[in-house]
Amino acid sequence: MDKVEINSLTFDELKEFVVNLGEKSYRGEQIFSYFHKNKKVDIGELHLLPRDLRESLKDITEVRKMDIFKKYFSKIDNTVKYLFLLDDMNIIETVVMEYKHGYSICISTQVGCKMGCSFCASTKEGLIRNLTPAEMVNQIYLAEKDLNINISNIVLMGSGEPLDNYDNSLKFIDIISHSKGHNISLRDITLSTCGLVPRIYDLADENLPITLSISLHSPFDEERRKIMPIARRYSIDELIEACKYYVNKTNRRITFEYTLIENVNDRDIDIKELGRILKGVKCHINLIPLNPIREYKEDRPSRKNIERVQRELMKYNISVTIRREMGGDISASCGQLRRSVTQNNK
Ligand code: SAH
Repeated sequence: MDKVEINSLTFDELKEFVVNLGEKSYRGEQIFSYFHKNKKVDIGELHLLPRDLRESLKDITEVRKMDIFKKYFSKIDNTVKYLFLLDDMNIIETVVMEYKHGYSICISTQVGCKMGCSFCASTKEGLIRNLTPAEMVNQIYLAEKDLNINISNIVLMGSGEPLDNYDNSLKFIDIISHSKGHNISLRDITLSTCGLVPRIYDLADENLPITLSISLHSPFDEERRKIMPIARRYSIDELIEACKYYVNKTNRRITFEYTLIENVNDRDIDIKELGRILKGVKCHINLIPLNPIREYKEDRPSRKNIERVQRELMKYNISVTIRREMGGDISASCGQLRRSVTQNNK
């Protein structure tokens, strides 16, 4: 029988798990805090538990090994990028950024990705596997322990599509925000999706005050389909409908990510159409200058043009920011770092 990955269980699941073993539920709380508050990994060392329980937990549960494989420091802005080695030798990428208000972390939710966006390095070899909730929280704990910091902001924007790994991403959010664990506020968690419409409705119905971020990248179905295969399944109309439902349900403002690609989505007609489709949607636009990758031949607009797009969009009464680039000297945004390592090892 497969062993249960004990540090992937949510607070409620863990209590139920120990009760099923004939223990009192507070044992589950102790175990939860041991992993998610104290960031420990060896259940054999949890001396609060009776020896018998520790022994049987060692038999029927597991904690998968995860280590720092490589670490890159930016001299420009203190950004740190990690490559973590998982117990099956897969590698994932995580980025820690320092802001005035604290530390923010960008975590991966899958090894690879199957969404196939043409400008994204993470998807070039397809989906290898989903990450477990423990592998998501451990990206945070390992970085925090290594840097001796406390993370206050989480974005699910690394490799992978969180809504394609829905259950694990939600369990991750449940675990990391729990008051008996790390206790990060749900308001300080952002989940980014390329637009899996039915899952946006599911997420809205969970009614969590997290920020939902939608990768839009074009207001035209035809153009969007060329750069994002998911757009062949769901139209922009359907996507915006789902976003409105999300806003209504959660009362949270939606963020639209818009990767700027020269002459592809930065034209006057794009701006005008964006203004039209986002009219009346409580939202914010985050413009991301394209990070060129080898497999995608397009480029980003000039700085002047990026600022022009921002100014023009603001005329529609939309709040618009330009994503600040972090860790420019350690390259490798958006899955490029992991890819450069896995390619070299072949
Ligand atoms: N799968 C999720 C989250 C991961 S990608 C999603 O699609 O939203 C996080 C953001 O980075 C997305 O908006 C994605 O489109 C964008 N992105 C990916 N590769 C990029 C690149 N080379 N340059 C600029 N933005 C990129």
